[in-house]
Amino acid sequence: MYNPSLMLCIACGSLGLPAKHYKGSIALEALLLIASIFGAFLNLLLGGVLFIVFVVYCVWRLASKYEACGSCNAAQLIPANSPMAQQLINRTNPNS
Ligand SMILES: [Zn+2]
Repeated sequence: MYNPSLMLCIACGSLGLPAKHYKGSIALEALLLIASIFGAFLNLLLGGVLFIVFVVYCVWRLASKYEACGSCNAAQLIPANSPMAQQLINRTNPNS
């Protein structure tokens, strides 16, 4: 399986650990949860439907997780130990 290691960003040239990103927003997720709780007080069916929407939204966000550069947020990351990354690192830092 995937082993977290140093990644090279080919967009900005940063070398580092990738940052995890999720699509969508945590604010909307919280809003859906609150709406489903209050909705359940008014109408159990409405609350249930809103809760299902909340769960689907959570699952979609978790499924859309991707790793991106910690500096520029670009998703173009390549493993730092790959030949292409080594070439790029040597070109930018000829002394190392
Ligand atoms: Zn970058």
